[in-house]
Amino acid sequence: MCGIVGAIAERNVVEILLEGLRRLEYRGYDSAGVALLSNNGDYSQVRRTGKVNELANAIDAKNGMGNVGIAHTRWATHGGVTENNAHPHVSKDRISVVHNGIIENYQALREELKAQGYSIDTDTDTETIAHTVHSLLATSGSLLAAVQNAVKKFHGAYGTVVMDREDPSRLIVARSGSPLVIGLGIGENFIASDQMALLPVTRRFIYLEEGDVAEITRREVKIYDAYGQPVERGVVESNINHDAGDKGGYRHYMLKEIYEQPTVVRNGLQGRINDSGLVSGIFGEGADELLAKVKHVQIIACGTSYHAGMTARYWLEQYANVSCNVEIASEFRYRKSVVHPNSLLLTISQSGETADTLAALRLAKELGYMASLTVCNVESSSLVRESDMAFMTKAGAEIGVASTKAFTTQLTAFLLLTIALGEKNGMSAADKEMILSGLHSLPSKIEETLTLAKSIEVLAEEFSDKNHSLFLGRGEQYPIAMEGALKLKEISYIHAEAYASGELKHGPLALIDEKMPVIVVAPNNELLEKLKSNVEEVRARGGIMYVFADKNANFKSDETMRVINVPNCNEAIAPIVYTLPLQLLSYYVALIKGTDVDQPRNLAKSVTVE
Ligand code: GLU
Repeated sequence: MCGIVGAIAERNVVEILLEGLRRLEYRGYDSAGVALLSNNGDYSQVRRTGKVNELANAIDAKNGMGNVGIAHTRWATHGGVTENNAHPHVSKDRISVVHNGIIENYQALREELKAQGYSIDTDTDTETIAHTVHSLLATSGSLLAAVQNAVKKFHGAYGTVVMDREDPSRLIVARSGSPLVIGLGIGENFIASDQMALLPVTRRFIYLEEGDVAEITRREVKIYDAYGQPVERGVVESNINHDAGDKGGYRHYMLKEIYEQPTVVRNGLQGRINDSGLVSGIFGEGADELLAKVKHVQIIACGTSYHAGMTARYWLEQYANVSCNVEIASEFRYRKSVVHPNSLLLTISQSGETADTLAALRLAKELGYMASLTVCNVESSSLVRESDMAFMTKAGAEIGVASTKAFTTQLTAFLLLTIALGEKNGMSAADKEMILSGLHSLPSKIEETLTLAKSIEVLAEEFSDKNHSLFLGRGEQYPIAMEGALKLKEISYIHAEAYASGELKHGPLALIDEKMPVIVVAPNNELLEKLKSNVEEVRARGGIMYVFADKNANFKSDETMRVINVPNCNEAIAPIVYTLPLQLLSYYVALIKGTDVDQPRNLAKSVTVE
């Protein structure tokens, strides 16, 4: 979601900025812009709606030169998707800014600024940052001080970079609520909302902390904390190897990532389990002692990660005898909640920058949770840095907006956590053995299940003219049905709802007709007979069903029901295995509908605004 790149160098920085934007492009956005300033004071600015290529095509020798510059991909929160609303925003032909986040009090600031004679020319909240900094410049004595004074006036979230047309020797950056990372070069320095953007120019990074304001020149980086005191922040060497342009021969990143699942799940298990159980210390230093005391788990997440958390709850209560609540981060953070004794706060996020989840973690620290653990895919992320314990999912860079391998590796992590907590809370030897053997077989089961792709591709044809669909599951397959529905709506734009199948008769049965396909997830577990009754309820009302079922579940295809047999697997790993055909179904339906699979409309990866 929304990308920032900035650079200050002796060389022309335009290509560094554009490449940085391209490397963030996969996250989804609606418009892009760049402002460039040369050492001789020449300034140019280009903004376009649409893709970075549109912006790059609009840049030529005349407007494409600068030794310092700022660039942005926008995911509109305030004001429509227009060139005029695209960043950078400029005040009085002098101060240019790019911004990620939301300035919540922008209306009040606008009134204040209008009274001071500033004209408001865009519909964005961001414009008020530029004018506020400009208005404070004369009295503050320096650009740094003007930004430090300005941020005191902002409510909400920002990662922002400020450039003064009269001073090509520095950029000022500020962070509160939206991530920013400084990239260190030799005689040149950089700034971005994600290190990915800067990997072609540096591997050395400084992560700004909440409330930090920094002054970046070619040779120096000076950082001040929220109280204006100079602070040192550590330099981190990144060993990430990420070629954002590589689809590995697949048509879409999403398909590539679906097929990477056997490998990344295997990587995630390697060195973490052996024949008799978990390798000690896999949740980090000191974690074993902390986890031994846990009596309750509060899970906080959004979107797909929330579905992983819901699945984890079934496992933790069923096998580990640990009570567990799961809540959407944006709800949790704005309500009063009760903290149980010896509670673990467990956050889940692919990017580790999900704004609501991060805010919930910060809130939880004040509420008195015993400890926090995050299950995350990005080692350098805020969630990993701010949690007591971190478990890395090792899924590798996920580029497709619709999460696939991040989800299945999160689920794998939760089976490990189930064993870790269960061992201290009376888990039966049989359950432990069942989960362990399931985990050992998981990579090959995933591989086997992906061979269903051809038949699912054929099946997808039947969805191309549908506008609505219903997903059903029971027990730990209910969150899998929810995840299947989310995938379908995200990338094929078909309205999809998921229900715990026992809920059918409490409302959704009213919707059933031949125009509304019903997708059923039916492994061979103790709830099978109950599920079969629910299937009959749908059949009796003329519904058309697509049933993903274990062969031994004895479903038979007929004129109202298509059965797709999923490879037989043990109960513990079934939610992971049954996720795969649903991912493939949504992918192939999207392909038939011709949507932008990797960057679906209106959505973005790494949701850094609340
Ligand atoms: N709130 C700002 C806008 O709508 C910034 C959005 C973003 O983070 O891209 O322009």
